Amino acid sequence: MTQTPNSRVRTRFAPSPTGFLHLGGARTALFSWAFARHHGGVFVLRIEDTDVERSTPEAVQAILDSMDWLGMQPDEGPFYQMQRMDRYREVVAQMLAAGTAYHCYCTPEEVEAMRERARAQGLKPRYDGTWRPEQGKTLPPVPAGRQPVVRFKNPLTGVTSWNDMVKGPISFDNGELDDLIIARPDGTPTYNFCVVVDDWDMGITHVLRGDDHVNNTPRQINILRALGATLPEYGHVPMILGPDGEKLSKRHGAVNVMEYDKEGYLPEAMVNYLARLGWSHGDDELFTRAQLVEWFDTRHLSKSASQWDPKKLNWVNAHYLRQMSDADLAAHVAPRLARRGGDPAAADLAAVVGLLKDRAETLEQLAEGAMLFCGPFGGVPAELAAQHLTDAAREALRDFARESATSDWSRESLSATIKKVLAARGIKMPQLAIPLRVAVTGQTQTPAIDAVLALLGKEKVLQRLEAALA
Ligand code: GLU
Repeated sequence: MTQTPNSRVRTRFAPSPTGFLHLGGARTALFSWAFARHHGGVFVLRIEDTDVERSTPEAVQAILDSMDWLGMQPDEGPFYQMQRMDRYREVVAQMLAAGTAYHCYCTPEEVEAMRERARAQGLKPRYDGTWRPEQGKTLPPVPAGRQPVVRFKNPLTGVTSWNDMVKGPISFDNGELDDLIIARPDGTPTYNFCVVVDDWDMGITHVLRGDDHVNNTPRQINILRALGATLPEYGHVPMILGPDGEKLSKRHGAVNVMEYDKEGYLPEAMVNYLARLGWSHGDDELFTRAQLVEWFDTRHLSKSASQWDPKKLNWVNAHYLRQMSDADLAAHVAPRLARRGGDPAAADLAAVVGLLKDRAETLEQLAEGAMLFCGPFGGVPAELAAQHLTDAAREALRDFARESATSDWSRESLSATIKKVLAARGIKMPQLAIPLRVAVTGQTQTPAIDAVLALLGKEKVLQRLEAALA
């Protein structure tokens, strides 16, 4: 870690480990990651775990797993704020010594009463500066036995402004900002203060984060200035809305990144979709991770909130599924198939996914479809048998079984055999194809019947036909 201004770009992702990594956090992380990569810089991961009540090791692990899954490995960290307490105390002491912070002995009740008074006068509720040292001012006597908080001596006048990388110029009147508490009576540092010390110590040059932090930024800037630190650039990314325009939440479907792994989305598709959600490169909808890194800039981050679109995510995922080789796809599908009770070795899984992938949007759909070939066969349901295995259909099936028994069982010869039976009997495709599907798969709808028969294999098909005809 360094405290000197750094010419090399350094970004950070600073999640609070109070739950799984949600889509909004993942997208912010992705922007910080891509920005660092684009500039050949450093991407730092910092775990903001000072809220000990709500932070859990499981949540830390979930965040690490999600970042790993999305391929956003940090160059430095994870750093844990709880392991940096001594450093924060040290900086608090420095600020007290420098006079940029001061002890305040007011009780929370007294501060509340000040706020009440301000409200009653139609003013902004705030700490009234009772303990703020000023030249020529006499401070009240220190109440015996009371532990003070430490407050930052915020400038009373002027404005704090920055040119936000996303939103453009933003400014706050310093008069609107309270003298922020930076350490509690027990000496523990507060949220904004830890962020400031960390961004400083970690030499962060560019902070990209959610726009729920805009109000923290002027406070952080003022503390950084008081410390004599070089300011990072800030960019505040608008939030993600659900398809109905409300803040994205569980009501709209999964918001936990790892849930998307479970549901059969590819990390490449998630990265592509998340990046495009709030950032653009011309009209490009599909781009690789390398292109994202090459093209990423903050100028094309959207100023307005973006909307989660599950249909588009599915479309992007379907694209990446089709891009993958059948063998790789089979390797992704095999464990999912096994979890459903299927046997990945029961058929040529690469050929199976090759057949199914044009119509699938997720790995789970592929696994589901592959059960037709690799799952247990439960026989033909009675009502389907009654409806579709009529006497005429049975005749046609017998013909097919006899004719195909001597074929080489390629898809082409199976197709030729089917056509031969249709011609000989003067019937149409559905009159044979549907009974065949029912007899051999127990379903009326499958992919192309010749392909299904070829992949199931001669032995299984003839056995099942025999059973259905018995
Ligand atoms: N820990 C904060 C959060 O999870 C982020 C702080 C920051 O990026 O400055 O919302």
